[in-house]
Amino acid sequence: MKTALITGIRGQDGAYLAQLLLSKGYKVYGADRRSADGYSWRLEYLGIQDQVEIKYMDLLELPNVIDIIKELQPDEIYNLAAQSFVGVSFNQPLVTSQINAIGVLNLLEAIRHYSPESKFYQASTSEMFGGSTEVLNENSEFKPKSPYATAKLFAHNSVINYRESFDLFACCGILFNHESPLRGFEFVTRKITDGIARIKLGLADKLILGNLEAQRDWGYAPEYVNAMWLMLQQDKPDDFAIATNTTVSIKTFIDHVCAEAGCFLEWQGSGKDLSGIIDGKISIEISDKFYRPNDVEILKGDATKAHKILNWKPETFMPELVKIMYQADFERLSKQ
Ligand code: NAP
Repeated sequence: MKTALITGIRGQDGAYLAQLLLSKGYKVYGADRRSADGYSWRLEYLGIQDQVEIKYMDLLELPNVIDIIKELQPDEIYNLAAQSFVGVSFNQPLVTSQINAIGVLNLLEAIRHYSPESKFYQASTSEMFGGSTEVLNENSEFKPKSPYATAKLFAHNSVINYRESFDLFACCGILFNHESPLRGFEFVTRKITDGIARIKLGLADKLILGNLEAQRDWGYAPEYVNAMWLMLQQDKPDDFAIATNTTVSIKTFIDHVCAEAGCFLEWQGSGKDLSGIIDGKISIEISDKFYRPNDVEILKGDATKAHKILNWKPETFMPELVKIMYQADFERLSKQ
């Protein structure tokens, strides 16, 4: 039986990846930093909370990381743990860099010294590109625009360096945004599907957002974790961009959600004075609070290499993705 260790198991991707690996017969260990409640709502949502074995491991505690890697010697290690919210990284650049950059070095050192045969996956991100009107792939230039992205780029380069210097089987997946009903509520897509479902059900009357002009390449998370697994099944380690090759603004994302909800939406004003009128009432407002000091305006990815080598391609696009997310939120809130 193959063994896998997933860091960030309680996050969106960690939960879907655990589900995928269990379905393939893996013994799955989840590395989880200790939290006050230890509640794994995503693992429960997927009905797999009793099938994964949790190990307490904080990426920042090197002796702790070494102990776990040494004990388990997993066939595959997926590093999904991160301070993953770009907005917060501007207020917490130090902790973001500790976790997203130094935390990855801790893992690489532990693997190099105590489990060099383990295959390693690093969760790199399209945010490292910093936005461009070009379609972006593995060869595009990185121009990170946030502490989150600079830390991720440090980790990305470190993984390549360890692969080349120490012959580790280490891969980076440069994943563009991917969403699902398990997305954290602080992320804009989930905030919108949850917020519009609340307005529809009369549980809320306003949704306050930031820059709606930003455009992202949004895919469906369960398909993206499959790409992670495929990277570690190849004969040689490499890096891959994973994307849908489409881009949609946040404003258009809201249009799709309102259409799915059966709401009549009209926009008035523009920029920071924009507001959305849903069924005759001002329901969407813009606040400076949600603007970032430096925003990535547009991201669109090209996954041709992944298609050729991994035989991976996206299957869920807009507005199907919106439908999956909105329906899940509407159902959940209807039962409350
Ligand atoms: P997520 O839902 O925010 O999950 C991140 C997980 O990391 C959480 O479970 C968190 O634990 C854990 N974590 C944070 N700091 C830790 C530490 N010091 N030690 C151990 N665990 C720690 O993120 P996601 O959406 O699943 O994303 C997975 C990975 O892909 C992240 O690295 C993210 O940056 C990257 N990524 C995501 C996307 C996307 O669109 N989703 C795109 C590109 C790259 P708690 O539950 O205790 O907070």
